[in-house]
Amino acid sequence: MSNTTKQIVEKYGFRFTKSLGQNFLVDMNIVKDIIRGAEITKEDHVIEIGPGVGTLTRGLLEAAGKVTAIELDEKLIPILKEELKGYEHFTLLHEDATKVDLGEIADGASIKLVANLPYYVTTPIITKILNDKTDFQSLTIMIQKEVAERMNAGPGTKDYGALSVLVQYYCDSKIIRTVPPESFIPRPKVDSTVIRLTKLSEPRAKVTDEALFFKLVRQVFNMRRKTLSNNLKAMGYSREFIEEALEKAGIDLKARGETLTVERFAHLANTIKEMNS
Ligand code: SAM
Repeated sequence: MSNTTKQIVEKYGFRFTKSLGQNFLVDMNIVKDIIRGAEITKEDHVIEIGPGVGTLTRGLLEAAGKVTAIELDEKLIPILKEELKGYEHFTLLHEDATKVDLGEIADGASIKLVANLPYYVTTPIITKILNDKTDFQSLTIMIQKEVAERMNAGPGTKDYGALSVLVQYYCDSKIIRTVPPESFIPRPKVDSTVIRLTKLSEPRAKVTDEALFFKLVRQVFNMRRKTLSNNLKAMGYSREFIEEALEKAGIDLKARGETLTVERFAHLANTIKEMNS
């Protein structure tokens, strides 16, 4: 039987680095649920961000055709090499996942990304993957419960924000399970959630100018208590232009942007674009 997380930590005298978000999984049921939730098959190339001492990695190696893990902490590199040495379809990269080109690592294949993400990199990594248009099939990630709820939130709710629109523009999302603090060493202060984001074959809405679409979304949620007309005013549009754009898009003058679905945001951005050209 393979070593457990605690045994490996003790064997190498590993010291946790809090600033790297190091909370290692000790509950093998969670590992199984993540792998099942990610729907990994022998056909898949899986990229894992932050393998730690390899608890989830080992399960991924048993299920997938190929696994590439990216770990920033140099103290973990020799441990991972030793503990996972029998697996020929394993590649370990000592890199910062926020800086690597995942497309290059995937090398033409469509990847499934699986990670128990350090909390401080969750939003930068998701934003990078989605905005860089990395070719991926799904991202199955364990993240802070509140962040998963924001990704999954619908219009008009308090959790709905720029991250919800970004995720829902590109993906379908599904909550796989919640995970309590006692499933990790050391225990984090917050609950975690495993969520799967499956990439849509086409973005959810047709957008003629994505830069304008995302600028509009960011503006709305930076000043979320304001009406959409005031948001548009802050973007430099005149009163007449705003009234015409909202009327054409079929949106009430007093509406708040935070009530718009991805499709409605897209429709408004497309209307503004058309009026400007
Ligand atoms: N996958 C392991 C598990 O589930 O037990 C460890 C998860 S732990 C929450 C996060 C891991 O990500 C740590 O091993 C940490 O060193 C690593 N890490 C933190 N920042 C990183 C970065 N920017 N790039 C790659 N790995 C990173």
